Amino acid sequence: MALIDTAATMIFTSSSSSSSTARLLLFNNTKLHKFPNTISNFRRSTSLHFGTSSPTSRTIVTHCSSSPASAIQVNNETLATVIDGKRVAKDIREEIAVEISRMKEEIGIVPGLAVILVGDRKDSATYVRNKKKACDSVGINSYEVRLAEDSTEEEVLNHISKFNDDPSVHGILVQLPLPSHMNEQNVLNAVCIEKDVDGFHPLNIGRLAMRGREPLFVPCTPKGCIELLHRYDIPIKGKRAVVIGRSNIVGMPAALLLQREDATVSIVHSRTKNPEEITRQADIIISAVGQPNMVRGSWVKPGAVLIDVGINPVEDPECARGYRLVGDICYEEASKVASAITPVPGGVGPMTIAMLLSNTLLSAKRIHNLR
Ligand code: NAP
Repeated sequence: MALIDTAATMIFTSSSSSSSTARLLLFNNTKLHKFPNTISNFRRSTSLHFGTSSPTSRTIVTHCSSSPASAIQVNNETLATVIDGKRVAKDIREEIAVEISRMKEEIGIVPGLAVILVGDRKDSATYVRNKKKACDSVGINSYEVRLAEDSTEEEVLNHISKFNDDPSVHGILVQLPLPSHMNEQNVLNAVCIEKDVDGFHPLNIGRLAMRGREPLFVPCTPKGCIELLHRYDIPIKGKRAVVIGRSNIVGMPAALLLQREDATVSIVHSRTKNPEEITRQADIIISAVGQPNMVRGSWVKPGAVLIDVGINPVEDPECARGYRLVGDICYEEASKVASAITPVPGGVGPMTIAMLLSNTLLSAKRIHNLR
């Protein structure tokens, strides 16, 4: 069960979205999704390849332990390459640690990340703790302000203002959700764009959407999705991509990023009619919905690459905690059709926090003009 624990804490650590937080709360209250019957008769035995991706793993997922980490070997089934976000994230953290050592040596500066936590929600406290741990692991200084639930918005704004002016701080995160008496937009807009390592500031998102403009930061989760495609040498240019979900923090910026890389992008959302007809045309699918196993094998074009952002706890009495995590994509089915797929947990989740560290390093290098 350690795997699930890790996922539950790692996955949400760098997302300060209220919707993710709300979902984890649901998770903590164990109001879990009922797990639909996802075992289909769908079988493929043809060999499928996409681009020049890394070595293929021939695995099938067992019942309770839905993670491919505990999967068993199966012959006579050609399954997708497992895109190992945990390993890639570890590589990225190592690269960041090396860069931070160089920075310290060359200019005597260490990047700093400040986190503001208001209230005493346990889940938020866990995310903040994990961010601190991740910072420690690569040598980023972390600063934390904890305020009582009944603090005023002005107090939060004052702390943001101090961090904006503090040269030892290169990134600022406000842990969401904020107490209901605070205006979230006011608070987030107060973070200066140069330290907006979450990439949610409207100016950063606006630049992401515009041709010829460069955002200072790209939101961590979608950035992590694209980084996985790059690290597995999966071509994007000229490909048909479908993003399922259009949230400000994942779906929308993921679509913008794919478009910037010259994919032809369609977006599927809750009002889309016959989504499977659209997804079946996709060479690349990024799914960020929050519906367990929604994307069935029959939704997937043979050889497509699948990036599953969804994190959904589903009831499972066979697991010690009574639940396990699954993605939006029915792994058991889709991995027999796709050429490459991210597991849940162990796919996009670990990348999100790696990208937060990467954005913090990027910010420090930019502020101190270090190449
Ligand atoms: P969100 O804000 O709730 O957005 C969900 C999106 O999915 C919305 O655009 C919604 O469409 C769409 N949608 C809902 N039901 C749908 C359906 N039946 N068919 C097609 N589209 C549908 O969620 P989010 O914050 O983007 O998060 C999405 C998932 O990613 C969640 O499982 C979350 O836990 C996970 N997540 C993971 C990470 C990570 O680090 N791995 C980070 C953030 C989020 P409408 O716009 O029409 O409502």
